Amino acid sequence: MEEKIEQIAGWLMTTERWVVFTGAGLSTESGIPDFRSPGGLWDRYNPQDFDFQNFISSQASRVKYWEMATEMYEPMKQAQPNLAHLAIAEMERLGKLDCIITQNIDGLHFKAGNSAEKVIEIHGTAMHVSCLHCQKRYNRDAIQARIKEGVKAPTCDDCGGPLKPATISFGQPMPEMETQEAYSRSSRCDLFMVIGSSLVVHPAASMPLIAKQSGAKLLIINRDPTPYDDMADIVIHGQAGPTMGNILKKLKQG
Ligand SMILES: [Zn+2]
Repeated sequence: MEEKIEQIAGWLMTTERWVVFTGAGLSTESGIPDFRSPGGLWDRYNPQDFDFQNFISSQASRVKYWEMATEMYEPMKQAQPNLAHLAIAEMERLGKLDCIITQNIDGLHFKAGNSAEKVIEIHGTAMHVSCLHCQKRYNRDAIQARIKEGVKAPTCDDCGGPLKPATISFGQPMPEMETQEAYSRSSRCDLFMVIGSSLVVHPAASMPLIAKQSGAKLLIINRDPTPYDDMADIVIHGQAGPTMGNILKKLKQG
């Protein structure tokens, strides 16, 4: 382990353009429940209510969706960045971080201090709400306040359209601009670091492959094995927070 950490620190010193790719592992280490895990939130709701087409076509689905989304939002709002988030924020200050591509919707990279232009949220964000008709964006807390007052499925002030958290639901297309940007940056980096993602949700999961094929070094830090472990230059199966903390410490020691 010590050897791997030293090697990663060495590569961070000798490479110039880093892309960091983060997933659910980072969020769970900050205490946000994994909704997909058995016994998780998703077991108590009908997945069909969270399909995008149903959200558009059925008021009952929208009500159910907001019920679940409200339950999901509380722990997200309370969560604080962990050592891995803080290490990634430090990587930005070191000046070689091209971008963070994140599957997470919890806004923790911003809480850790990363700047907006460095973070590509390919699955959207739970911190905002948008109107599905006119795309007007709202602060999430402002809309949650309406729910608290008894509104079941909030609508847009301007056009009356349905409001939905600005996350990407099942059956909803990926945000085109963000996805393109993420692909393009993956192909231009010389170091691609996967932190806390099992790399199973597509198309995001193919980004490390593109980086590797374009000549970047590929590092994977994840609790469990991933389908890309075989092609990675270094794999660490462990917790993101302590591992990233050690890598940054080593990097600063030179
Ligand atoms: Zn609207």
